[in-house]
Amino acid sequence: MARGAPLPQSDTMLEEVYMKSIRMIEAGKPLELRDIPIPDINEKDVLVRVRAAGICHSDTHYRAGRSAMGFLPITLGHEVAGVVDKVGGQVMNVKVGDRVCLHYNLTCGDCYSCSSGDEQFCDTVKMLGHHVDGGYAEYIAIPARNAIQLPDEIPFEEGATLMCASATALHALGKGRVKAGETVAVFGVGGLGLSAIQLARAMGAVEVYAVDIKQDKLELASEYNAIPIDASRVNAVAEIRKLTKGKGVNVSLEMIGLRKTMEQAIDCVGNLGRAVMVGLNQQPIEINTYKQVLGKEAEIIGSNDHLLQELPMLVDMARRKILDTSRVVSQVIPLDAQKINQRLDDLELFTNDVRAVIVP
Ligand SMILES: [Zn+2]
Ligand SMILES: [Zn+2]
Repeated sequence: MARGAPLPQSDTMLEEVYMKSIRMIEAGKPLELRDIPIPDINEKDVLVRVRAAGICHSDTHYRAGRSAMGFLPITLGHEVAGVVDKVGGQVMNVKVGDRVCLHYNLTCGDCYSCSSGDEQFCDTVKMLGHHVDGGYAEYIAIPARNAIQLPDEIPFEEGATLMCASATALHALGKGRVKAGETVAVFGVGGLGLSAIQLARAMGAVEVYAVDIKQDKLELASEYNAIPIDASRVNAVAEIRKLTKGKGVNVSLEMIGLRKTMEQAIDCVGNLGRAVMVGLNQQPIEINTYKQVLGKEAEIIGSNDHLLQELPMLVDMARRKILDTSRVVSQVIPLDAQKINQRLDDLELFTNDVRAVIVP
């Protein structure tokens, strides 16, 4: 503050300028509560009052320092929904008071990749809560093009989580080119898998096989009309072959990131099948190129993240309950560093499968 400037009149005045945020100060250390200035916005930005921010498994990698951050200290949180609080002079797509959820990849919209619709390869792509400040805070500033209208029917908590796992599942099904009348196998019934099962049905898949080793997840998958395959008891590939009368599935999605399930996902597709790799895995896998790929003209397809242009349709599917998101969020917690660190510890150690959302 400049010398001679008047002191703030009251605490309320301070509250208007500063906000609470839960920041990563140092890699490998717990996140900490910090009061930081409410961010400024540019002409094409919006300021969003955060109403929900999902705690995602990838946040554990960021906190641990396993992935390079844009800068430190930084606010984590890439699954965000809220209410538009302020708009820049050139913003046309949203107005103050609108409910929105936020696409987490900030892209330029102008480079070659962006103009050809492949914005995940944007020359300057930055991720919310990873390269720039994210949503573990009371407010977030973001380019207006990243704000998607969130209908009243979808609670903020569900809108926030839609922006990560469900969006990635929709993109993966698109990469697999699922068509009406086809069969699909989903390996891993977590957030990605449960969305994929429902979206595959919506795209016309006649049968969806859900492979997992946990009984409760398999039961949940059956509630969404998938045929459960318990890989702790049977050979998943043999079972899929048996159930498809020897043909194999048209499309498989690997959502776990394990060598074994990747190999199974490739092995279980039939002639002209498409095996889509979504789970992250650094280890090499083994493929019999004749038997598994060229002999049946199968394809192994990589799927990475999702696109801004896919999100309005996804939100609409959730609004119409074609995609049920009501059972995704199992816990709501306040903007509290200790509670957030606890949830991240649980995710890191797989001690608790709770999907928590911060409601500041
Ligand atoms: Zn996420
Ligand atoms: Zn670009």
